[in-house]
Amino acid sequence: MSRAQTTILVAEDEESFVEALTLGLKREGFLVEVARDGEEALKKFDLVKPDLLLLDVMLPRRSGLDVCREIRAKSKVPIIMVTAKSTELDTVVGLEVGADDYVSKPYRMKELVARIRAVLRRTPADQKPEDQADIIELSGIQLDLARHEVHVRGELVRLPLKEFELLELLMSNPARVLTRDTIIDRIWGAYYGGDTKTLDVHIKRLRSRIEQDPSNPTTITTVRGLGYRFEVAR
Ligand code: CA
Repeated sequence: MSRAQTTILVAEDEESFVEALTLGLKREGFLVEVARDGEEALKKFDLVKPDLLLLDVMLPRRSGLDVCREIRAKSKVPIIMVTAKSTELDTVVGLEVGADDYVSKPYRMKELVARIRAVLRRTPADQKPEDQADIIELSGIQLDLARHEVHVRGELVRLPLKEFELLELLMSNPARVLTRDTIIDRIWGAYYGGDTKTLDVHIKRLRSRIEQDPSNPTTITTVRGLGYRFEVAR
């Protein structure tokens, strides 16, 4: 369930650095996007949604510190600051505006890549906003929202649309009771035909596909008089 490739946005205005970085990072298997000033860095950040930002402190139009501050206000994406000189002040200010790490020019490509990998390792999956947020995995069931795929204990299971939506709703609210009214409203809305059995039929079908023993469900349980609950296996 990992992404195909990690994208790094390089914000750097010195052409010689840009070339060396692009080449070196691509050779390490990263996808590289480049911004040559602070404004462009902010714009490209929104467009590219990088996994990591390599941010030069001294940039035209907007400084690296400004860019870092602005991105931190909305995102937890890992940021490594790059500065021309290694002074204590720079380090403190950089970390204060939310950078995860710091490298000083001149640096060796090997050192930079090691730091990039270290920062990426430290970033928990729930802070990676892109593809991974589209996968819910609970109690042996993996729901891939982007691909509309369900794996039950490792096996691909085909679900009709309404059953997929029902499972998504339940798994998005783990260990919480969802009332029949809430479920019906969210899944069928005004199109619910008035037959109160429709929900029960869908729950039954869903259980037959995901439960180990559908006659004795332990994943989607019935809460009598209320509704249903997706149980989280411990
Ligand atoms: Ca610069």
